Amino acid sequence: MQDQYGRVIDYLRISVTDQCNLRCVYCMPREENLRFLPKDELLTDEEIVRLCRIFADIGISRIKFTGGEPLLRKGLADLVFRIGQIPGVKEMTLTTNGVLLKDQIGALYQSGISSVNISLDAAQKEHFSSIAGIDYFEQVMEGFEEAKKYPMTVKINCVLARELNEGQWLSLAEYAKDAKVDVRFIEMMPIGTGKQYTSGGQDELLARIKERYGDVEEQKEKGNGPAIYYKVQGFLGRIGFISAMSHKFCSQCNRIRLTADGVLKPCLQYESHVELKRMLRQGRTEHELTELIVKSIFQKPKEHKFQEQQEKRCDLTGNMLEKKKMSEIGG
Ligand code: SAM
Ligand code: SF4
Repeated sequence: MQDQYGRVIDYLRISVTDQCNLRCVYCMPREENLRFLPKDELLTDEEIVRLCRIFADIGISRIKFTGGEPLLRKGLADLVFRIGQIPGVKEMTLTTNGVLLKDQIGALYQSGISSVNISLDAAQKEHFSSIAGIDYFEQVMEGFEEAKKYPMTVKINCVLARELNEGQWLSLAEYAKDAKVDVRFIEMMPIGTGKQYTSGGQDELLARIKERYGDVEEQKEKGNGPAIYYKVQGFLGRIGFISAMSHKFCSQCNRIRLTADGVLKPCLQYESHVELKRMLRQGRTEHELTELIVKSIFQKPKEHKFQEQQEKRCDLTGNMLEKKKMSEIGG
Protein backbone atom coordinates (compact mmCIF):
# COMPACT_ATOMS: atom_id res chain seq x y z
CA MET A 1 0.00 0.00 0.00
CA GLN A 2 0.99 3.64 -0.33
CA ASP A 3 1.25 6.15 2.46
CA GLN A 4 0.01 9.73 2.34
CA TYR A 5 3.21 10.79 0.52
CA GLY A 6 2.89 8.14 -2.18
CA ARG A 7 5.65 5.91 -0.81
CA VAL A 8 5.05 2.21 -1.44
CA ILE A 9 5.35 0.42 1.90
CA ASP A 10 6.28 -3.20 1.27
CA TYR A 11 8.95 -3.99 3.87
CA LEU A 12 8.42 -5.03 7.50
CA ARG A 13 11.09 -5.50 10.17
CA ILE A 14 9.95 -7.81 12.96
CA SER A 15 11.82 -7.78 16.25
CA VAL A 16 11.30 -11.29 17.61
CA THR A 17 12.94 -10.69 21.00
CA ASP A 18 14.31 -7.77 23.02
CA GLN A 19 17.02 -9.97 24.58
CA CYS A 20 20.58 -10.10 23.38
CA ASN A 21 23.74 -12.09 24.03
CA LEU A 22 25.96 -9.05 23.32
CA ARG A 23 26.02 -5.61 24.86
CA CYS A 24 27.15 -3.32 22.05
CA VAL A 25 27.81 -0.05 23.83
CA TYR A 26 25.95 2.09 21.31
CA CYS A 27 22.85 -0.13 21.45
CA MET A 28 22.30 -1.56 24.93
CA PRO A 29 23.15 -0.05 28.29
CA ARG A 30 25.82 -1.98 30.21
CA GLU A 31 23.83 -2.09 33.46
CA GLU A 32 23.81 -5.32 35.45
CA ASN A 33 20.08 -5.47 35.94
CA LEU A 34 18.75 -4.75 32.50
CA ARG A 35 15.05 -5.46 32.32
CA PHE A 36 13.68 -7.50 29.48
CA LEU A 37 10.12 -8.25 28.53
CA PRO A 38 8.44 -11.05 30.47
CA LYS A 39 7.56 -13.93 28.15
CA ASP A 40 3.86 -13.14 28.10
CA GLU A 41 4.61 -9.61 26.86
CA LEU A 42 6.29 -10.97 23.74
CA LEU A 43 4.19 -11.66 20.69
CA THR A 44 3.64 -15.40 20.34
CA ASP A 45 4.39 -17.24 17.08
CA GLU A 46 0.66 -17.51 16.49
CA GLU A 47 0.21 -13.75 16.89
CA ILE A 48 3.15 -12.90 14.63
CA VAL A 49 1.84 -15.22 11.91
CA ARG A 50 -1.65 -13.76 12.20
CA LEU A 51 -0.32 -10.22 11.88
CA CYS A 52 1.91 -11.22 8.96
CA ARG A 53 -1.16 -12.50 7.08
CA ILE A 54 -2.76 -9.09 7.47
CA PHE A 55 0.47 -7.30 6.49
CA ALA A 56 0.85 -9.51 3.40
CA ASP A 57 -2.76 -8.78 2.41
CA ILE A 58 -2.06 -5.06 2.33
CA GLY A 59 1.14 -5.40 0.33
CA ILE A 60 4.05 -6.26 2.64
CA SER A 61 6.13 -8.68 0.59
CA ARG A 62 9.52 -8.55 2.31
CA ILE A 63 10.16 -9.36 5.94
CA LYS A 64 13.33 -8.94 8.00
CA PHE A 65 13.74 -10.81 11.29
CA THR A 66 15.65 -8.80 13.86
CA GLY A 67 15.85 -8.22 17.61
CA GLY A 68 17.50 -7.95 20.20
CA GLU A 69 19.28 -10.98 18.91
CA PRO A 70 16.75 -12.92 16.81
CA LEU A 71 18.63 -16.22 17.09
CA LEU A 72 17.83 -16.25 20.82
CA ARG A 73 14.17 -16.82 20.05
CA LYS A 74 13.33 -20.49 20.41
CA GLY A 75 11.89 -22.06 17.27
CA LEU A 76 12.79 -19.13 15.01
CA ALA A 77 13.24 -21.38 11.96
CA ASP A 78 9.72 -22.81 12.41
CA LEU A 79 8.28 -19.32 12.69
CA VAL A 80 10.15 -18.26 9.53
CA PHE A 81 8.84 -21.31 7.70
CA ARG A 82 5.23 -20.54 8.66
CA ILE A 83 5.54 -16.94 7.54
CA GLY A 84 7.10 -18.07 4.26
CA GLN A 85 3.90 -20.03 3.51
CA ILE A 86 1.77 -16.88 3.58
CA PRO A 87 0.71 -15.85 0.07
CA GLY A 88 2.34 -12.54 -0.84
CA VAL A 89 5.49 -12.99 1.27
CA LYS A 90 8.25 -13.04 -1.34
CA GLU A 91 11.44 -12.52 0.63
CA MET A 92 12.56 -13.21 4.18
CA THR A 93 15.90 -12.01 5.53
CA LEU A 94 17.69 -11.89 8.86
CA THR A 95 19.91 -9.49 10.75
CA THR A 96 22.00 -11.08 13.50
CA ASN A 97 25.12 -10.55 15.54
CA GLY A 98 26.22 -13.97 14.24
CA VAL A 99 27.12 -15.49 17.63
CA LEU A 100 24.67 -18.40 17.25
CA LEU A 101 24.60 -18.45 13.47
CA LYS A 102 26.85 -21.45 12.83
CA ASP A 103 24.37 -23.92 14.31
CA GLN A 104 21.20 -22.26 13.04
CA ILE A 105 21.99 -21.16 9.51
CA GLY A 106 21.13 -24.53 7.93
CA ALA A 107 17.63 -24.64 9.42
CA LEU A 108 17.04 -20.97 8.63
CA TYR A 109 18.07 -21.45 5.02
CA GLN A 110 15.75 -24.46 4.76
CA SER A 111 12.93 -22.37 6.23
CA GLY A 112 13.27 -19.73 3.55
CA ILE A 113 15.77 -17.11 4.72
CA SER A 114 17.53 -15.89 1.58
CA SER A 115 19.83 -13.22 2.95
CA VAL A 116 21.71 -12.70 6.21
CA ASN A 117 23.20 -9.48 7.53
CA ILE A 118 25.86 -10.01 10.16
CA SER A 119 26.53 -7.00 12.36
CA LEU A 120 30.24 -6.60 12.96
CA ASP A 121 31.86 -3.42 14.19
CA ALA A 122 35.47 -4.55 14.49
CA ALA A 123 37.80 -6.86 12.59
CA GLN A 124 39.96 -7.72 15.59
CA LYS A 125 39.07 -9.87 18.54
CA GLU A 126 40.06 -7.45 21.33
CA HIS A 127 38.46 -4.51 19.63
CA PHE A 128 35.29 -6.52 19.06
CA SER A 129 35.04 -7.36 22.75
CA SER A 130 35.51 -3.77 23.82
CA ILE A 131 32.52 -2.71 21.69
CA ALA A 132 30.30 -5.79 22.05
CA GLY A 133 31.06 -6.29 25.74
CA ILE A 134 31.62 -10.05 25.41
CA ASP A 135 34.36 -12.04 23.72
CA TYR A 136 32.39 -13.84 21.01
CA PHE A 137 34.47 -12.77 18.01
CA GLU A 138 35.43 -16.31 17.05
CA GLN A 139 31.84 -17.53 17.22
CA VAL A 140 30.79 -14.67 14.92
CA MET A 141 33.56 -15.55 12.46
CA GLU A 142 32.52 -19.20 12.48
CA GLY A 143 28.92 -18.17 11.80
CA PHE A 144 30.09 -15.91 8.96
CA GLU A 145 32.16 -18.70 7.37
CA GLU A 146 29.28 -21.18 7.70
CA ALA A 147 26.76 -18.74 6.16
CA LYS A 148 29.01 -18.28 3.11
CA LYS A 149 28.64 -22.00 2.34
CA TYR A 150 24.95 -21.55 1.53
CA PRO A 151 23.58 -20.16 -1.73
CA MET A 152 22.36 -17.03 -0.05
CA THR A 153 23.36 -13.38 0.22
CA VAL A 154 25.66 -12.63 3.15
CA LYS A 155 26.41 -9.05 4.15
CA ILE A 156 28.37 -7.42 6.92
CA ASN A 157 26.95 -4.34 8.60
CA CYS A 158 29.22 -2.04 10.57
CA VAL A 159 27.96 0.95 12.50
CA LEU A 160 30.25 3.96 12.14
CA ALA A 161 31.20 5.32 15.54
CA ARG A 162 34.29 7.45 15.50
CA GLU A 163 35.05 6.96 19.20
CA LEU A 164 34.64 3.18 18.97
CA ASN A 165 35.85 1.82 15.68
CA GLU A 166 37.39 4.45 13.40
CA GLY A 167 40.64 2.48 13.16
CA GLN A 168 38.72 -0.64 12.08
CA TRP A 169 36.80 0.72 9.11
CA LEU A 170 39.29 -0.16 6.37
CA SER A 171 40.01 -3.62 7.84
CA LEU A 172 36.27 -4.29 7.86
CA ALA A 173 35.96 -3.10 4.25
CA GLU A 174 38.45 -5.84 3.34
CA TYR A 175 35.88 -8.54 4.12
CA ALA A 176 34.48 -7.59 0.69
CA LYS A 177 37.82 -8.26 -1.00
CA ASP A 178 38.09 -12.02 -1.32
CA ALA A 179 34.45 -13.09 -1.07
CA LYS A 180 31.23 -11.98 -2.69
CA VAL A 181 30.19 -10.30 0.54
CA ASP A 182 28.91 -6.73 0.66
CA VAL A 183 30.24 -4.70 3.58
CA ARG A 184 27.89 -1.90 4.54
CA PHE A 185 28.69 1.04 6.77
CA ILE A 186 25.76 2.42 8.71
CA GLU A 187 25.72 5.91 10.11
CA MET A 188 25.11 6.00 13.84
CA MET A 189 21.65 7.26 14.63
CA PRO A 190 21.06 9.30 17.80
CA ILE A 191 18.82 6.74 19.49
CA GLY A 192 19.32 5.34 22.99
CA THR A 193 22.99 4.92 23.97
CA GLY A 194 23.90 5.63 20.32
CA LYS A 195 23.40 9.32 21.12
CA GLN A 196 26.76 9.38 22.89
CA TYR A 197 28.79 8.66 19.76
CA THR A 198 29.83 10.61 16.72
CA SER A 199 29.17 8.85 13.47
CA GLY A 200 31.75 8.80 10.73
CA GLY A 201 30.38 10.00 7.43
CA GLN A 202 29.98 8.26 4.08
CA ASP A 203 31.95 10.84 2.10
CA GLU A 204 34.90 10.75 4.45
CA LEU A 205 35.14 6.95 4.50
CA LEU A 206 34.71 6.74 0.75
CA ALA A 207 37.62 9.15 0.35
CA ARG A 208 39.76 6.91 2.58
CA ILE A 209 38.77 3.83 0.58
CA LYS A 210 39.74 5.58 -2.67
CA GLU A 211 43.05 6.65 -1.19
CA ARG A 212 43.87 3.07 -0.16
CA TYR A 213 42.41 1.03 -3.04
CA GLY A 214 42.11 3.42 -5.97
CA ASP A 215 39.04 4.62 -7.82
CA VAL A 216 35.62 3.26 -6.97
CA GLU A 217 32.57 2.97 -9.17
CA GLU A 218 29.10 3.82 -7.93
CA GLN A 219 26.66 1.04 -8.75
CA LYS A 220 23.69 2.29 -10.75
CA GLU A 221 21.56 -0.66 -9.73
CA LYS A 222 20.08 0.02 -6.32
CA GLY A 223 19.30 -2.80 -3.92
CA ASN A 224 15.90 -3.14 -2.24
CA GLY A 225 16.80 -0.81 0.60
CA PRO A 226 18.45 2.56 1.16
CA ALA A 227 22.07 1.41 0.68
CA ILE A 228 24.25 3.02 -1.97
CA TYR A 229 26.90 0.63 -3.28
CA TYR A 230 30.37 1.07 -4.72
CA LYS A 231 32.57 -1.40 -6.55
CA VAL A 232 36.23 -1.26 -5.56
CA GLN A 233 38.77 -2.56 -8.07
CA GLY A 234 39.87 -6.07 -7.22
CA PHE A 235 37.09 -6.63 -4.64
CA LEU A 236 34.58 -9.44 -5.19
CA GLY A 237 31.96 -7.86 -2.94
CA ARG A 238 30.81 -4.26 -2.77
CA ILE A 239 31.08 -1.47 -0.23
CA GLY A 240 27.75 0.00 0.79
CA PHE A 241 26.61 2.96 2.83
CA ILE A 242 23.38 3.45 4.71
CA SER A 243 23.52 7.08 5.65
CA ALA A 244 20.27 8.13 7.26
CA MET A 245 21.88 11.29 8.62
CA SER A 246 24.18 12.69 5.91
CA HIS A 247 22.26 11.29 2.92
CA LYS A 248 18.72 11.22 4.25
CA PHE A 249 16.51 8.72 2.37
CA CYS A 250 13.11 9.28 4.03
CA SER A 251 11.48 10.19 0.70
CA GLN A 252 12.14 6.61 -0.45
CA CYS A 253 11.47 4.88 2.86
CA ASN A 254 9.46 1.69 2.31
CA ARG A 255 9.57 0.20 5.80
CA ILE A 256 7.57 -0.26 8.97
CA ARG A 257 8.55 -2.00 12.19
CA LEU A 258 6.92 -4.44 14.58
CA THR A 259 8.58 -4.41 18.01
CA ALA A 260 9.01 -7.51 20.17
CA ASP A 261 6.16 -6.38 22.42
CA GLY A 262 3.79 -6.10 19.51
CA VAL A 263 3.86 -2.41 18.69
CA LEU A 264 3.68 -1.23 15.09
CA LYS A 265 6.02 1.70 14.42
CA PRO A 266 5.64 3.47 11.10
CA CYS A 267 8.84 5.52 11.63
CA LEU A 268 11.99 4.77 13.61
CA GLN A 269 12.21 8.19 15.20
CA TYR A 270 8.71 8.86 16.42
CA GLU A 271 6.96 7.33 19.35
CA SER A 272 3.65 7.23 17.47
CA HIS A 273 2.53 3.64 17.21
CA VAL A 274 -0.30 1.12 17.27
CA GLU A 275 -0.41 -1.42 20.08
CA LEU A 276 -1.22 -4.41 17.94
CA LYS A 277 -0.60 -6.97 20.67
CA ARG A 278 -3.17 -5.31 22.91
CA MET A 279 -5.66 -5.19 20.04
CA LEU A 280 -5.05 -8.85 19.23
CA ARG A 281 -5.53 -9.87 22.84
CA GLN A 282 -8.70 -7.78 23.11
CA GLY A 283 -10.11 -10.00 20.40
CA ARG A 284 -10.27 -7.42 17.61
CA THR A 285 -11.37 -8.83 14.28
CA GLU A 286 -9.16 -9.14 11.20
CA HIS A 287 -11.08 -6.25 9.67
CA GLU A 288 -10.51 -3.99 12.69
CA LEU A 289 -6.81 -4.85 12.85
CA THR A 290 -6.42 -4.21 9.13
CA GLU A 291 -8.07 -0.81 9.47
CA LEU A 292 -5.74 0.19 12.30
CA ILE A 293 -2.66 -0.94 10.40
CA VAL A 294 -3.69 0.76 7.17
CA LYS A 295 -4.38 4.03 9.01
CA SER A 296 -1.04 3.93 10.78
CA ILE A 297 0.89 3.22 7.58
CA PHE A 298 -0.99 5.92 5.71
CA GLN A 299 0.01 8.43 8.39
CA LYS A 300 3.70 7.42 8.37
CA PRO A 301 5.67 10.59 9.13
CA LYS A 302 7.25 12.33 6.17
CA GLU A 303 10.78 12.26 7.52
CA HIS A 304 12.96 11.97 10.57
CA LYS A 305 14.19 15.11 12.26
CA PHE A 306 17.20 13.67 14.03
CA GLN A 307 19.42 16.60 13.12
CA GLU A 308 16.96 19.30 14.09
CA GLN A 309 15.43 17.64 17.11
CA GLN A 310 18.28 15.94 18.94
CA GLU A 311 17.87 18.14 21.98
CA LYS A 312 14.08 18.31 22.01
CA ARG A 313 11.67 15.65 23.10
CA CYS A 314 8.93 16.29 20.60
CA ASP A 315 8.64 17.37 17.00
CA LEU A 316 7.06 20.54 15.69
CA THR A 317 3.61 18.97 15.52
CA GLY A 318 3.84 17.70 19.06
CA ASN A 319 4.56 14.03 18.25
CA MET A 320 6.72 12.54 20.97
CA LEU A 321 10.09 11.28 19.80
CA GLU A 322 11.10 7.67 20.39
CA LYS A 323 12.61 6.78 23.77
CA LYS A 324 12.95 3.02 23.23
CA LYS A 325 16.39 1.44 22.86
CA MET A 326 17.47 0.27 19.40
CA SER A 327 17.57 -3.31 20.70
CA GLU A 328 13.87 -3.02 21.53
CA ILE A 329 12.95 -1.63 18.14
CA GLY A 330 15.13 -3.89 16.02
CA GLY A 331 17.31 -1.40 14.14
N1 SAM B 1 21.24 -8.17 17.20
C1 SAM B 1 21.04 -8.05 15.80
C2 SAM B 1 22.21 -7.38 15.15
O1 SAM B 1 23.05 -6.82 15.85
O2 SAM B 1 22.24 -7.39 13.91
C3 SAM B 1 19.77 -7.37 15.39
C4 SAM B 1 19.31 -6.17 16.16
S1 SAM B 1 20.36 -4.75 16.05
C5 SAM B 1 19.43 -3.55 16.95
C6 SAM B 1 20.13 -4.30 14.35
C7 SAM B 1 21.14 -3.32 13.80
O3 SAM B 1 20.95 -2.06 14.41
C8 SAM B 1 22.59 -3.72 14.04
O4 SAM B 1 23.28 -3.73 12.80
C9 SAM B 1 23.11 -2.62 14.93
O5 SAM B 1 24.47 -2.36 14.71
C10 SAM B 1 22.22 -1.46 14.51
N2 SAM B 1 22.17 -0.36 15.47
C11 SAM B 1 21.99 -0.42 16.80
N3 SAM B 1 22.00 0.83 17.34
C12 SAM B 1 22.18 1.69 16.30
C13 SAM B 1 22.27 3.11 16.19
N4 SAM B 1 22.16 3.92 17.24
N5 SAM B 1 22.45 3.65 14.97
C14 SAM B 1 22.54 2.85 13.86
N6 SAM B 1 22.45 1.51 13.90
C15 SAM B 1 22.29 0.94 15.11
FE1 SF4 C 1 22.63 -6.91 20.58
FE2 SF4 C 1 22.50 -6.30 18.01
FE3 SF4 C 1 22.23 -4.41 19.88
FE4 SF4 C 1 24.61 -5.50 19.54
S1 SF4 C 1 23.49 -4.30 18.01
S2 SF4 C 1 23.59 -5.16 21.51
S3 SF4 C 1 24.08 -7.53 18.98
S4 SF4 C 1 20.86 -6.06 19.53
